Amino acid sequence: MRQSQTAPEYFDEGALIGVLTAEPLDRMLDYKAPEGGCHLGAFVEVPLGPRKVIGVVWGAGKGDWDITKVRAAYRVLDAAPMRLEMRDFLRRSADYTLTPMNAMLRLATRAPGLGDPPSMRKIHRRGPSEPERMTDARQKVLNTLAEYGDLSFTLKELAELAGVTTSVVKGLVEQGAVAEEDSPRDLPFPRLDPSLPSKELTEDQAMASAYLADAVQSGNYGTTLLRGVTGSGKTEVYLEAVAAALRAGRQALVLLPEIALTAEFLKRVQERFGHRPAEWHSGATMTERRRIWRMIGQGQAQLVIGARSALFLPYQNLGLIVVDEEHDTSYKQEEGVLYSARDMAVLRASICGAHVVLASATPSLESWANAESGKYKRLELTSRFGPAVMPTMKTIDMRDAKLPANRWVSEVLKSEVQKRIDAGEQAMLFINRRGYAPITLCRACGHQVGCDDCDARMVEHRFQNRLVCHQCGESKEMPTKCPSCDAEGRMAPVGPGVERLGEEAAVLFPDARIATLSSDMYGSARALKAEIEAIAAGGADIVIGTQLVAKGHNFPNLTLVGVIDADLGLQGSDLRAAERTFQLMRQVAGRAGRAEKPGTAMLQTYQPEHPVIRSILEVDEEGFWRAQAAERKAAGVPPYGRMAGIIVSGTDLPQVFDLANHLARMDGPLRAVGAQIFGPAPAPIARVRGRHRVRMLVKADKTVALQGALSRWAAQVKLKGDLKLAIDIDPQNFY
Ligand code: ADP
Ligand code: ZN
Repeated sequence: MRQSQTAPEYFDEGALIGVLTAEPLDRMLDYKAPEGGCHLGAFVEVPLGPRKVIGVVWGAGKGDWDITKVRAAYRVLDAAPMRLEMRDFLRRSADYTLTPMNAMLRLATRAPGLGDPPSMRKIHRRGPSEPERMTDARQKVLNTLAEYGDLSFTLKELAELAGVTTSVVKGLVEQGAVAEEDSPRDLPFPRLDPSLPSKELTEDQAMASAYLADAVQSGNYGTTLLRGVTGSGKTEVYLEAVAAALRAGRQALVLLPEIALTAEFLKRVQERFGHRPAEWHSGATMTERRRIWRMIGQGQAQLVIGARSALFLPYQNLGLIVVDEEHDTSYKQEEGVLYSARDMAVLRASICGAHVVLASATPSLESWANAESGKYKRLELTSRFGPAVMPTMKTIDMRDAKLPANRWVSEVLKSEVQKRIDAGEQAMLFINRRGYAPITLCRACGHQVGCDDCDARMVEHRFQNRLVCHQCGESKEMPTKCPSCDAEGRMAPVGPGVERLGEEAAVLFPDARIATLSSDMYGSARALKAEIEAIAAGGADIVIGTQLVAKGHNFPNLTLVGVIDADLGLQGSDLRAAERTFQLMRQVAGRAGRAEKPGTAMLQTYQPEHPVIRSILEVDEEGFWRAQAAERKAAGVPPYGRMAGIIVSGTDLPQVFDLANHLARMDGPLRAVGAQIFGPAPAPIARVRGRHRVRMLVKADKTVALQGALSRWAAQVKLKGDLKLAIDIDPQNFY
């Protein structure tokens, strides 16, 4: 699906055009240019069977279709045409991730009503009443509204999504089951003012921001790794790079892990530039999404703060991309299009001449290696801003703790927490496990409750009084008798989760105000953020949380972090286990002592001599990265080699294995480039949502063009039935 090099910039009415749609078809479709003609890159509405779909004019039509059967595009949509660099970006990211173009286009058009004229629109939500009589069609509409929660739709969008006629929706409006409201047209975002005063920068902050301002000003592509401990002022520095982009009349994008997109952060942006930026995240309504999409395309949104998919918005003139907490695993999308937003940010910037800032206290080994080799510029902020100093780090040897059953907080940690409470300070207890207990076991027969559809144990969530599967989200009531042997009242929780730790803390510290932060206790991400802000303002003495709380939140009065189980992430054979544990522990420890009071981090561990645990305590991080780099180099794995994960899945296990074995035997295209294939073997989680999963791993030299070989290899088989083959380039997870 390459765009022809000779494609003209404009097509007269009736000329043959090739249109890319987001429909799951493996080719472009030929149409005749609509009335008035169209530009290359224009968004058009075209007939497809009985439907109307949206597409992008990708080039001249192929002309391999019976010309008398070629239909005319209906119209050009009122949206800025997709720019050449965006088309390039989609094509090259499709090539890199081995994703079909239509799936890439879907990522780039995640906004409703793209073709609607800019005017007032009536939007539809669930109304207060029930329909007088329920029909299938009506049920579909109500299901659609329930499924999309608080998003709002026009009449047409709702009818289309539900697969019913608009009269069905109108009927529901009359009966009050669907409410109709007026929603304002898409407004431009207020102009941001880069000339408002910045904070007075320290010397190394000033040097870093001057370098970045120059780099942005130059208009050339480049990537900078901005390293500095939590609290060293990385945000202050990259906001100055944003200012430079705004002054140059270019757009800027700041990517954050979803959970780090806090009110506190937005307030800082507002203080620096006078207004709030555009926010692109999963909680944005359809109307907000549409507004952001359109305004970015018209250059009327200068700064976007968003989660990873903000990378696929139609920027007109992008000059800067910041990837904050660049090592964060949420930048890798693990479903649908398997892409790393960090890597795709670098690709996008290299196409449009933008600068990339990768900010982190604990960079990924990939970025560290690129900085080492000189591919990326490296800037360091060496100390915390102001009086704050790095926390003191210690281990607590749990072999000496001799805790009774069902207790996880050692005496040492307990007395340290008590000291903080007595001093009017905050303490945090950290455990990276959601729910109440990871295992529910029958004391009579030893049975462990598992998920019906996945090869995973179910986790007790006591607040919901349910067992939940963390793979597929399925839940069931807590059983009172064993599902295997029927024994009554013998089911028991084993091991701690964040909720159970909260319970223990309530016993150990009966007078303390304890806040347990678990994502499933706060219905929405917003409610959770509000709770975190209340805690930061002093609303709790002890904070108990999972890695949610490790991401970018600022607790000024927090002076102690106790890690309940520092060994947790070291189990398993994941090549990044050491790196991830190091990053997480450092990040969590960094929560302590952000303001004037120095902080302490204490790690409970059964293996204090473990090299990773020891390196976490070391002041010098470079040693850790160098040792990791040497290990990966020796093993020929990323970033010193190429890797792809292959997941074959389906409901019928023998078929899944047959296909995987067949593929493994047909390894000619891979061997031709010197790539090796490992497996097939059942995936560590061998069944998810009723589908069996078999994994293979392909490894190759750094210099090999692996994607081409992989697609030639995969093209040798036809997928029958419900079999699926997913190729995960640079896999981050191996479950
Ligand atoms: P990081 O992004 O590295 O975690 P931040 O930029 O959030 O660090 O800075 C930590 C805190 O210190 C913030 O409250 C920030 O406003 C403050 N700060 C950092 N640098 C300065 C400065 N030069 N002047 C005033 N306050 C600063
Ligand atoms: Zn499940």
